[in-house]
Amino acid sequence: MLRIATLCTLLMTSLWSFDYHTTPKQITKHVWCFFGKLEAPSKSNGGFMSNSCYLKTQKSYIVIDSGPTYQFAAQAYKAMSKIAKLPVSAVINTHYHDDHWLGNSYYKEHFGARLIGTKLQNDTFKPGMTVRIQKMTTPEIFSQTKIIPLDETVNKETNLTIGGTTLTLIPVGTKAHTAEDIFVVFSDEKIIFSGDLVMNGRLTSNRDGSVLGQLKAHAMINKRGWKSLVPGHGTITDSHAMEESSLYFKLLKERVSKAIEEDVPAEEITKKVTLPEFKDKAMYNVVNKRNIFDAYGELEFAE
Ligand SMILES: [Zn+2]
Repeated sequence: MLRIATLCTLLMTSLWSFDYHTTPKQITKHVWCFFGKLEAPSKSNGGFMSNSCYLKTQKSYIVIDSGPTYQFAAQAYKAMSKIAKLPVSAVINTHYHDDHWLGNSYYKEHFGARLIGTKLQNDTFKPGMTVRIQKMTTPEIFSQTKIIPLDETVNKETNLTIGGTTLTLIPVGTKAHTAEDIFVVFSDEKIIFSGDLVMNGRLTSNRDGSVLGQLKAHAMINKRGWKSLVPGHGTITDSHAMEESSLYFKLLKERVSKAIEEDVPAEEITKKVTLPEFKDKAMYNVVNKRNIFDAYGELEFAE
């Protein structure tokens, strides 16, 4: 009987609880972020393994990457409304991977927020489709989450001014983490939101990306100058935020290129090149070999 009663209570309060992140961390004067776990999406993390940030303007918030579900966004908003109870006027999605934007449906439903991102996201995801986060979590966790088409897509450097605050949205212009990535500069506070062009504490999956494009993106980000940088995954946001990603792609390029020069065949590349400097980083065992193998395919035909 007790068990049934407990179950009923659980069902009645069926909001999935993202207990480990409910306090947002303030990064600069007007920026707060929620940091996801450094692992793959799962039932235990509710799909929350990416970063989601709020930027406070005079009368509203701008959200940069909205997290993996409607319920995640609802809980993030609840936490932010304790800091200032403002509506969310716009949501920017840095790229089309679904852990970064499925919270859009909450912000559209509650505030009619402008949804801004890449054309690739609209081209790839149609309302009603089954998505990765849905498959890797549960119907409870995913409840109320919908694919909502973006209102605006960005294909060149664009300023977005809301409530006296201006952000600059910069598309990389070539394949980097994905075929279309945007990073966001808030120059008033010298902070950049890199999306997955930068990660720390874990290795990136370069399955949709390019080694040379990533290096180009890092150069573009550094050219803008920054004091804080919020990665797509990872909690380091100070001047060291980009070190791991920069080193990873630099070494990946150097070592795989050298192996190609030495005529190492493709099937042996992941034995020859291992990048042991990163073996203690999260996701190393899941993504590193594939990244090396893919880098071989890319660099073999590069100039
Ligand atoms: Zn991601």
